[in-house]
Amino acid sequence: MSDVQNSQEPKKYKRVLLKLSGEALMGSGQFGVDPETVNQIAEDIREVVDSGVQVCVVVGGGNIFRGLSGAASGMERTTADYMGMLATVMNSLAMQNALEQLDVPTRVQSAIPMDTVAEPYIRRRAERHMEKGRVVIFAAGSGNPYFTTDTAAALRASEMKCEMLLKGTKVDGVYTDDPVKNPDAKHYDHLDYKKVLTDDLRVMDTSAIALTRENNIPITVFSIYEKGSFGRVLRGEGRFTTVQSEG
Ligand code: UDP
Repeated sequence: MSDVQNSQEPKKYKRVLLKLSGEALMGSGQFGVDPETVNQIAEDIREVVDSGVQVCVVVGGGNIFRGLSGAASGMERTTADYMGMLATVMNSLAMQNALEQLDVPTRVQSAIPMDTVAEPYIRRRAERHMEKGRVVIFAAGSGNPYFTTDTAAALRASEMKCEMLLKGTKVDGVYTDDPVKNPDAKHYDHLDYKKVLTDDLRVMDTSAIALTRENNIPITVFSIYEKGSFGRVLRGEGRFTTVQSEG
C-alpha cells in the first residue's frame, strides 16, 4: 500500500471484461437506470473498443432487484434469484441501447435463453463477436441461483480468456475502510488474492476471487464515474487497485 501511483509499463491488452454493478448504472439516482450515466459509460467503452481492445461486459442487477433482499422478505430464494437475473437482462439491454446509439456494434447473450430479446450464451459465438470488434454483454449472470454477477464475471472472464477483469465502482479502488465514511481510510494500489480473502476485503465475493485466482486473471477496481477512466486504467494511468497473484 502506498500513495505512489501504479507505475508498471502499460501493457497492450487484447481482451478484457468489464463488470458493472447495477448500482453503477444508477448514477446519483436511488433506483433503476440513469440514462446520462449509462451514456457516459458507453462512451468510455467506445474509446477502449476504438483503441483495438476486445471488450465484453457483465452487468449486475442490484439497482432493480437482489435475490437476497427478496428472500429476506419471505420469498423463496431461487425465485428471488431468477428475478435478480432478469433484472440484469434489463440493465444489459439499456447498456446495449446506449452503445448502439454511439454506433458500437453490440450483442447481448443471456445465460437464461430468451430468444426474442437476446442471443443465448454460446462461448464460441461470443468470442467470434469480439474478434469482429463487437462488444458482448453477458446477461442473466451465470443462469444459476445462489450466484452473483461478480462470480458470473469471473466465470465469463475465464471462459473468454480475458487478460483482466475490471470492476467499475463508485470509488477509485480498494481502501482499508469505507472512504466515504472514514476520511483516514488508506488506498491500496496493489493487493494479492490471499490478502483479499484473509482480510475479507470487499473487492468481489469469495467465489469470484477464487475463480480469478485459479485462472490467474488480475482484477482491477476503479471508479467508473470518472470520465475516460476505463481507457486510462488500461494504459496504467490514474488511481485504481490491482489484485493479482502473490509473489
Ligand atoms: N443472480 C443469480 N445468479 C447469478 C447472477 C445473479 O441468482 O449468476 C441474481 C442474484 O439474486 C443477485 C441478482 O441476480 O442478487 C443481481 O445480481 P448482483 O446482486 O450480483 O448485482 P450487482 O450487485 O452487481 O448489481
